[in-house]
Amino acid sequence: MVDDGSAGRRDRRARTRRHHRTRLIAAGAAVLLIATGAVAGALALRGGPSAPQVDADALALSAELTAQEQDFLSDRSRTADVAASRQVQQRAADRAAAAAQAQAEAEAAAAAAAAAAEQAAAEEEAARAAAAEATSAPPGAPTSSRIAGWVDGRPVDANGNVLWVTSVPTADGDGSNGHMPMSAMCAIGWGTDQLGFTQYLRCDAADALTALNDAYRAAFGASLDLDLTYRSYEDQVAMKAALGGLAATPGTSSHGLGLALDVQEWPQTYGFGTERYQWLVANAPTYGWYAPDRVREGQPYAEYWHFEYGPGRSS
Ligand SMILES: [Zn+2]
Repeated sequence: MVDDGSAGRRDRRARTRRHHRTRLIAAGAAVLLIATGAVAGALALRGGPSAPQVDADALALSAELTAQEQDFLSDRSRTADVAASRQVQQRAADRAAAAAQAQAEAEAAAAAAAAAAEQAAAEEEAARAAAAEATSAPPGAPTSSRIAGWVDGRPVDANGNVLWVTSVPTADGDGSNGHMPMSAMCAIGWGTDQLGFTQYLRCDAADALTALNDAYRAAFGASLDLDLTYRSYEDQVAMKAALGGLAATPGTSSHGLGLALDVQEWPQTYGFGTERYQWLVANAPTYGWYAPDRVREGQPYAEYWHFEYGPGRSS
């Protein structure tokens, strides 16, 4: 029975080992079964896709994000490009505007230079014409051996001294002192100065002087020797500048109104105390002319040659 006993023990041990193996396999299967169920349950609870699908979605999402990012970057790049382009355009516009302004300024400067040159040429021409006019006798001016030339429109003697002569009234005179219009003035038909210049007085004074001269000529056999009558404002200014205190303040001379005359400064003929002077002082008032007190003999500005027109006055 030992053998039987031994064999029986071996059989029992083998059965025990098989039994243990079966139990291990069964346990392993159960564990596997539980684990599978747990995963399935978890997935069922999530209700989501299976694992491979999650991976695909994640990839898609990632791709989408990448695309959006690229779009964003692209947009940003495009925005930057647009901004840069605008800057370039703005700089180009600025350069064009600056160039246009520079050109306009250059053209304006050129126009101004041309205008200045034109004006300078005109002034030069005017100066040339004025010089030519100043150094030549004005139209209608008399010729005389005593006139050596003309300076500033005035006759001068051989020494260059101005020969003061009667002014010619202008057409546009306004009637003020030194600006008598020619229409209000009359030329003396019976006498000029020694150089041949025509004498002008206001017409009523001229008519009265003609009547006085008729009486004078009847008394002395010759007309009055006239020297100066009308004097323009311009000539009053020139005389004041040349003669100073001896000349009246411009604009105040009775010569400027065509109401005064000077006979020749011939003291032996017209001087104080001469027969002709005494006759004129006595008879001129009959014709509206007189010798003012302020130029009578002994006065600071005594002028035997000066008479004025003033009906009713005798001194
Ligand atoms: Zn005078």
